[in-house]
Amino acid sequence: MDFRDTPEEAAFRAEVRKFIEEEGHKARIRDDDGERAFFGGSKEWTKALAARGWVAPAWPKEYGGAGLSVMQQFIFNWELAEARLPRPGGIAVGFAGPTLIVHGTEEQKKKYLPGILSGEDIWCQGYSEPGAGSDLAALQTRAVRDGDDYIINGQKIWTSGGHLARYMILLARTDPDAPKHRGITYFIVDMKSPGITVRPLVNLAYTHEFNEVFFEDVRVPRENIIGEENRGWYLAQTTLSFERSNIGGSVGARQAVEDLIKFARENATNGQSTLAHNPAIRHELVERYVEAGVAQMMSFKIVSIQAKEGVAPGHEAAVAKLYGTELNQRIYRTGMKVLGLYGQLDARTDGPKPPLRGRIKYMYLRSVANTIEGGTSEIQRNIIATRGLGLPRG
Ligand SMILES: Cc1cc2nc3c(=O)[nH]c(=O)nc-3n(C[C@H](O)[C@H](O)[C@H](O)COP(=O)(O)OP(=O)(O)OC[C@H]3O[C@@H](n4cnc5c(N)ncnc54)[C@H](O)[C@@H]3O)c2cc1C
Repeated sequence: MDFRDTPEEAAFRAEVRKFIEEEGHKARIRDDDGERAFFGGSKEWTKALAARGWVAPAWPKEYGGAGLSVMQQFIFNWELAEARLPRPGGIAVGFAGPTLIVHGTEEQKKKYLPGILSGEDIWCQGYSEPGAGSDLAALQTRAVRDGDDYIINGQKIWTSGGHLARYMILLARTDPDAPKHRGITYFIVDMKSPGITVRPLVNLAYTHEFNEVFFEDVRVPRENIIGEENRGWYLAQTTLSFERSNIGGSVGARQAVEDLIKFARENATNGQSTLAHNPAIRHELVERYVEAGVAQMMSFKIVSIQAKEGVAPGHEAAVAKLYGTELNQRIYRTGMKVLGLYGQLDARTDGPKPPLRGRIKYMYLRSVANTIEGGTSEIQRNIIATRGLGLPRG
């Protein structure tokens, strides 16, 4: 196995590095970026990426993307992660755009794609409900036809960025009598529509990322359906050929461990770290270091399968998601031990400067959600068991 770049890959990596060197400073968040920066970095950074089609690296060029190959995307994501730079896009680039490109009408593409590519429009995803998460097809939000409109009633939950979004991609039930996967339709909802209430949900790390969204007789024009009525479930699976290695995540894990090792080395004797007196923590750091290396190998394996076979690996991606997110929790648990009591300081509220800018504490709390968002660990284990290992369904 040879991990070295081909000459073409090396040239592309050099291009990305040069871009980062010249433009990376624009990612620094400024006051007028406001809360939206949380969902993709500064406006200036988005603009710099947009100028090269790199807001949507996987989209075809004809739709304003960069048309990068899977391997190029991998290199792009890897280099950005190494430089600790954010990737804008989120739901808009990952879900709404691809669904519009594959299933949307020409009018819909013209209307919505430019705002996604410029980073102007944030989108949110209205899928989960209080009674529908892992079993998403159980969703109950209703859309009833009324002339040229649909009237939506119901509730979504855990809607990331719902308070900042211009549009939502919404799954709603249009045929309550059909089998549950078949009566669902895919809508675009203007978040400024009358009848929508967005209520904040503050997470364990004390940040406002997600929301509850209530729909009370919300009128959505028929032209806002993507694809056919009652076929929404199948559209919701649409992606373009995004690389699925999670290289950004595995590089982030390695960097976090490296930060902790550096901190432990530098603070071993000044009382801020329990490390010098606790060989168990030393061993933990070594374990995390080895595990972060394993996570990176998983990323390499996935991208090589994807680049060679042209298909997104199913159960290997589930293995990497399961391992990477549970590893994240272990890393930040170790981190809290390395930092000791100082690690409990909060960068936002506490006077004294917290070690490592308070990031370890924040991530210790935030990483709890990593094993839930995007499919829980149990669901990943089910996928691996059935699709990967051929075990019978539980
Ligand atoms: C940070 C964050 C951001 C999110 N952002 C969004 C968003 O923007 N839009 C959106 O629509 N949703 C979003 N979600 C919701 C997310 O998709 C759901 O939380 C997730 O799918 C799990 O669903 P649930 O919370 O209803 O839990 P449930 O599905 O009710 O699961 C409860 C528990 O039961 C287990 N379980 C469920 N089914 C099985 C099974 N078949 N076998 C074994 N165990 C099972 C689960 O693993 C879990 O431990 C977000 C979640 C988080 C944490």
